[in-house]
Amino acid sequence: GHDVGDQLLVIIAERLMQEVRAGDTVARFGGDEFVIISEQVDDSVSIVNLAERINNALRRPIQIGSHRVTSTVSLGVIVGNGHDTAEELLQKSDAAMYAAKDSGRDGWKFYSDELQVKAKKQLDLVTGLRNALEKNEIRMVMQPIIDIRTGRITGAEALMRWTRNGEVISPVDFIPVAETSGMINALGKWSFDRTVRVCADWQKRELLADDFIFSVNISTRQLLDAAITEFMDKTLKKYDVNPRHVQLEITETSLMHDIAATRDILIALGEIGLKIAVDDFGTGYSSLAQLVRLPVSCLKVDRMFVNDLTENARTRALTDSIISMAHILDLKVVAEGVETREQLEFLKEHDCDLAQGYYFHRPIEIEDCELTWLAPERAPSTPLIGAQ
Ligand code: C2E
Ligand code: CA
Ligand code: CA
Repeated sequence: GHDVGDQLLVIIAERLMQEVRAGDTVARFGGDEFVIISEQVDDSVSIVNLAERINNALRRPIQIGSHRVTSTVSLGVIVGNGHDTAEELLQKSDAAMYAAKDSGRDGWKFYSDELQVKAKKQLDLVTGLRNALEKNEIRMVMQPIIDIRTGRITGAEALMRWTRNGEVISPVDFIPVAETSGMINALGKWSFDRTVRVCADWQKRELLADDFIFSVNISTRQLLDAAITEFMDKTLKKYDVNPRHVQLEITETSLMHDIAATRDILIALGEIGLKIAVDDFGTGYSSLAQLVRLPVSCLKVDRMFVNDLTENARTRALTDSIISMAHILDLKVVAEGVETREQLEFLKEHDCDLAQGYYFHRPIEIEDCELTWLAPERAPSTPLIGAQ
């Protein structure tokens, strides 16, 4: 709540004051951002010491009434050169702070020109992304998901692609930018709409098997928009698509990070009939007790596990127990990033339900899906979808 938040800020300010030297300036800059100006530093060692002291001071748990709060701090450090204006100093320390955040929070980074170059690149992505949709630079590709027991394709994951001036930019690079710049909402809506449209199209042309499921990735940022449920519901109705054909993928890390804020929306989405899958499972620290209280029906075991299966006995044991546990909880398991026959054999032996990966198919253009798996007579060697 606000009260606890305010008290937390006061205590943090006090701790900061204790760590700086007399003559230094500590200011709250807004939200949870503070600025420290240290005017009598003569060597970088003392800056490093200060940064470390602040990190340590803020790491100690804080007691507020009955709440015990732990917080971390990300620090960006810039050494003035006498030419930079106050604004430039702030902007550069901000870039350094974001770099510290990116490398896992709870740390500090010095400003460097490289950071500036990186910041410029980010800015360039943000500007480009802003009209990428209007300029039709974004498209969707689909990667098949295979039922391990039957070898049939029973689903596909929709993945975004952005081509800008002939260069393909990976979603790994532009999704985070879209998230921090707020553009993820527009992109996410587009990707949901596009996927449902494909589903409707296949349905009309009687290409869609009853049990076929399209998976769409969504960012938890999108779940903070309370109108998302209504948007998805309307989209499904607009194209006359049954929600049981659509699954939303949310990464384990973001799900657990924002669980309090997103729980109700997830439940509402489940109520309109959408399926929910936990993406990159095994990379976060979810508590199963929390998971079962959400309308989750599928776990996607992260590629890292699958990759490690043939080499590492512990990974094998872990994967095996994830699958058993998921089945006890009535969840389906998808293995991501299956690249070899050996990996597939292991997964099959251990009763994993579904698989996805380069071993079967890379993500392909939507029109090519129809050629490769919807029209078996034209590609006899590929698995068939659904009941044909
Ligand atoms: P993800 O959801 O974990 O998607 C799986 C990624 O693994 C895809 O990368 C896919 O091409 C790749 N992959 C599939 N099989 C294999 C394999 O056998 N080996 C290897 N090495 N890689 C494999 P992609 O398409 O570059 O997407 C990266 C990430 O971008 C996705 O990770 C997802 O988090 C995000 N993303 C993509 N499209 C969207 C979208 O429409 N909305 C949101 N919010 N995020 C998206
Ligand atoms: Ca995914
Ligand atoms: Ca994944």
